[in-house]
This record gives sequence, C-alpha cells and structure tokens, in this order.
Amino acid sequence: MTSRRGWLLALSLVCRIAAAADPPAPPPAVVVIRAGTLIDGVSGQAKTNQTIVIRGNRIESVGTGAAPAGAKVIDLSGATVLPGMIDAHTHVFLQGEEPSEGGYDVQLLKHPLAYRAARATVAVRRALEQGFTTIRDVETEGAGYGDVGIKQAIEEGHIPGPRMFVSTRAISTTGGYNLEGYAPEITVPKGAQLVDGPVEARKATREQLENGADWIKVYMTHRSWVDAAGNLQSQPTLTVEELKAIVDEAHGWGKKVACHAYSNPGMKRALDGGCDSIEHGLELDDAAVAQMVKQGTWLCATLSPYYKYWRQEGTPLGKLDRKRVEVHGPSFRRALKAGVKIAFGTDVGGFSWNEPIAQEFPYMVQFGMTPMQAIQSATSRAAEMLGMKGQLGVLAPGALADVVAVSGDPLKDVKVLEKVTFVMKDGKVFREPASR
Ligand SMILES: [Zn+2]
Repeated sequence: MTSRRGWLLALSLVCRIAAAADPPAPPPAVVVIRAGTLIDGVSGQAKTNQTIVIRGNRIESVGTGAAPAGAKVIDLSGATVLPGMIDAHTHVFLQGEEPSEGGYDVQLLKHPLAYRAARATVAVRRALEQGFTTIRDVETEGAGYGDVGIKQAIEEGHIPGPRMFVSTRAISTTGGYNLEGYAPEITVPKGAQLVDGPVEARKATREQLENGADWIKVYMTHRSWVDAAGNLQSQPTLTVEELKAIVDEAHGWGKKVACHAYSNPGMKRALDGGCDSIEHGLELDDAAVAQMVKQGTWLCATLSPYYKYWRQEGTPLGKLDRKRVEVHGPSFRRALKAGVKIAFGTDVGGFSWNEPIAQEFPYMVQFGMTPMQAIQSATSRAAEMLGMKGQLGVLAPGALADVVAVSGDPLKDVKVLEKVTFVMKDGKVFREPASR
C-alpha cells in the first residue's frame, strides 16, 4: 500500500511539474482574407483587392500588403466582403405570430419555457447563418430572463449565435401590454413587466439590470387604431415622470433605453423622457424629428414587418395595417433628411426566422437611403448605438474579426445581402461558400 501511495504521490508531483513547465500559449493564429471588393462599414467608397489580416479574434490590418508568411488564406477574391452585420431589433423568443399556430398568445399560455428556449437556440443560429454577427434583442415576450441564458450559452461556445445585447423583460404599464382580452377574473401572463408610478418603474429597471439587461426596453405606446378623421392614433402608456425614472436609473448604470413608440402623445413622452432610441417610429412629425436630432436619439424603424399579415381591407384592423405603412415611409424619409441617426432593425421574431433578415434593406433604400447608407446603418452606425464604435461594424485595425461576404454587388442591388456565403465571428469561421 505504502509503495503504491508513494508512486501515486510521485506521479502527481510529476504532473504538477509538467503543468508548471507547460510552454506559454502559442501566439494566436493568423488568418488572411483576400477580398475582391471590400466595404469597410465606415467609408463611403468600396475598395478592391484588399487583404485583411486577422490575428486571433482581432483585425490587425486592412490593405494591399502581402500576406504574412504561414497565414491561413481565405480566398474571397470573387466576393464582396463586409463587416458582420447588426440587427438592432430582434426577438429570439418569438417565432412569427402565425394565426394558424395560435398567434402571440399561445406562446405565453401553452409553451413550456424549455420549448421556447429550444426554438430561440435555432433563431440565434439563423441570425448568424445570415451574416448577422450581433443582435440587440429587445425583450423576451414573457420568457423572463431567457435571453440572458441564450447569450451565456453563445458566449461559452455551447451553441452558435451572434453577440447579443439583451433587454430581458421590457416595461409597460397596466393596460399597456398583452396578454389581453381574457376574463378579468383570470390572471394571465403578460409579455412585459407592468409598472405604475415612478417608484415601480425604477424598481423594475433595477431588477432587470441586476439580472443581466444590457438595454432597457420600454413600451411608450400600445394599442393603435385609425380615428374617424383617418389619422393613426396610439394609446400612450408610461408618463414622462415614469419614463424619466427608468432613463435616470439605466443611465446611472451606464445603460441605455429603447422606446417602442408609434405616434403622439406616446412619442412625445418618449422623447421628453429622454429615450436613447425610438423603435418603429411610425409617425414622426417635424417636431419629433427636430427633437431627435437635438437629443441625439436613434431611430430603429423596422419597416419590413408592417408589410406583412395585412388584415381584410375596409375593416378597422385592415385600415390600421394600411395606415401604418402609409405614414411610416414618409416618417423614415423625414428623419433621414433631417439627419436623425438611424440603426438597422427588423423585428424578426415578429415574423418567422425562416425569412431573410436582410429583407429590410430594400425598404430603407426605397425610402431614401443609398445602399451604402443602408449597409452602414447595419454596421458602423448600429455599432455606435450599441457603444461599440470601432469594435464592431467596421473592417479596420483593432476591430473584432466579424466578417461576412456575399457573391454579388450590394451597392447595385441590396437584395444580394439576403445571400451571405461566408460568416466569420470573433475570428472563427462559421460559414464558408459550398464550393470552397
Ligand atoms: Zn419588437
């Protein structure tokens, strides 16, 4: 026994010595991407025949120099190479509100959280496959802090997915969010955390920040309809005082506040309360646009979903669907012209994750952006909104190595952004062209 124990002791000592004598970690691998055309996310001009040198998870250089000896070369000389794209308005815990599948309510009433998390796992993979290497996910719709868990699983490498900025439960008021329309005697779950009064608003913000929210999402308007005069109306939710408590608390933690807002008076309250981004912004009048410019408020318009699921023409809901797009495009154009900062966002999850996220680009171009501006809204501009300027959304020295490629020319036709053939996130290749 003694000799066996002695042998084991000796072995463990050898192991410890071996561990102590381990050579230092090898230098990070060097990868070179040859880009036929390169859109760097910031510059207004594309460049041709560029070489991107990536060391580990960072871009070391971009230019026309020779590749370092021994580097792995990825040949994208027949493609257009761009920074990994950013969708600043997603819902990984929604799967499209298909009425035939029970619509929105069934997800909260009948689906176990594990089922919703499993589908969210597929959703984040879908985002990455399509070249969206970063998302700002603006609330879980009744799935609590599930987004924090999905984000953790991605960061630890258990599942593939984009970098996530999460906003957890979102905040609205009593009478200000779904589920609705059930017997008042029944307690049904709500898709957001409902608060009344500045004290509750501040407390909910603290809870969400404590539990991992990167952003706070607030619903400043709820129901919407077309009034007798044919104008879009939307029900305001939080008061300016309630919103100010949220914004003050979030800003104190170094975090920002995204406000869902369709039209006045909720829109005015969102801006007066100091929101950092307006989500959707269906009806932005000149005063709202001027206030956004003055305050540096971002617009995340999510144009594409409003062209879906139109209800029957002539009915109140059918009128609403058509009215929303009637005012939305001109609002976007007005904001763009006035110099409002615009970040790309789609509301995917509100529609199926099997649809292309990049379908938003043609609408942005239709309402006044150049293709280059639309691309920048999904790269450097969105990165700036997320506080990641220079780190994300740009192909330049020092940036994180998030790189995608498409086979056509997106400056001629933004629709080619729907067909991403190469995806690298954080220096690791996730998707390569089939022919390679
Ligand atoms: Zn949304």
